[in-house]
Amino acid sequence: KEKILEVRGLKTSFYTHLGEVQSVRDVDFDLYKGEVLGVVGESGSGKSVTCSSVMRLLQHPGKIKEGTVLFKGEDLVQKSEKEMRKIQGNEISMIFQDPMSALNPVYTIGNQMTEVIRNHKKVSQKEAEEIAINMLTLVGIPSPEERMKNYPHEFSGGMRQRAVIAMALSCDPELIIADEPTTALDVTIQAQILELMKDIQNRLNSSIIFITHDLGVIAQLCTRVIVMYGGMVMEEGTVEELFYDAKNPYTMGLLNSVPNPKSDVKERLEPIPGTPPDLLNPPKGCAFCNRCKFAMKKCLEEIPEVYEVTKTHKSRCHLLHPNAPTVEGFVKEAR
Ligand code: SF4
Ligand code: MG
Repeated sequence: KEKILEVRGLKTSFYTHLGEVQSVRDVDFDLYKGEVLGVVGESGSGKSVTCSSVMRLLQHPGKIKEGTVLFKGEDLVQKSEKEMRKIQGNEISMIFQDPMSALNPVYTIGNQMTEVIRNHKKVSQKEAEEIAINMLTLVGIPSPEERMKNYPHEFSGGMRQRAVIAMALSCDPELIIADEPTTALDVTIQAQILELMKDIQNRLNSSIIFITHDLGVIAQLCTRVIVMYGGMVMEEGTVEELFYDAKNPYTMGLLNSVPNPKSDVKERLEPIPGTPPDLLNPPKGCAFCNRCKFAMKKCLEEIPEVYEVTKTHKSRCHLLHPNAPTVEGFVKEAR
């Protein structure tokens, strides 16, 4: 499989008047062509900042401190602003939670789409319109010729997000980063947008990074997942490994806090007690130590290393050390 993205040792901080907020503290991951990688975690875990760092779209006062982001073998961290602008929206497209943030309220959908297309492709206005109509059809917008003449406010929330997805796709990006693209929509529309993304992924074999706090969404859409907490990747694996054989107490806690969609019984949810670490003063040891029911002395003192469970499955937890004590409720070995 062709690797299109390789992130190594990524550290991103926000330099605020209170001090340095270490939002991303050491992130490694790979993305292969045609795969959908889920990035899951609570808010403040560093998932959005990781992806904005990859795209070099960090808001002030955020800065990449260290690390490499190899995209098709070239380090995006070293690119100039100008070089990055060519890559953003062309080779890499981003879809955000709020579709309005990607749309200009004073231009028609058709105008905005053809402008984006013509900025990225050498085509005539007529050809750009045809591409736009094809894209709107692809994302399931009915009577696209008519809809091209509408302004964003004339679209419903779901239709707007479809239009944004159409825009993101119209430049044939090699990588799409979607940051909670369905979170702002109501549940029925959410399901439709997810179906759409799945369908597009199947048809175009796109490589997608999908950021979400929702494990249900991960199960539906992704092939592989990374679980983030406190600015670090706590666990990485295939969807099966994560859902059926979690090897990190944080992932186990997340899984216990979501209802089982297949179960009719209203299960009592157990949210993980406590709050995420303050990244202005990150803990010395494991990011999860103040909430983890398995925490040991070592957890307070040392950041755990990443242990390999299988070739595809990794976890950052001291319990995976070969000499770690056996604890009830935690199975060290792969199933
Ligand atoms: Fe829990 Fe310690 Fe593992 Fe962190 S390293 S997840 S605190 S057991
Ligand atoms: Mg976010």
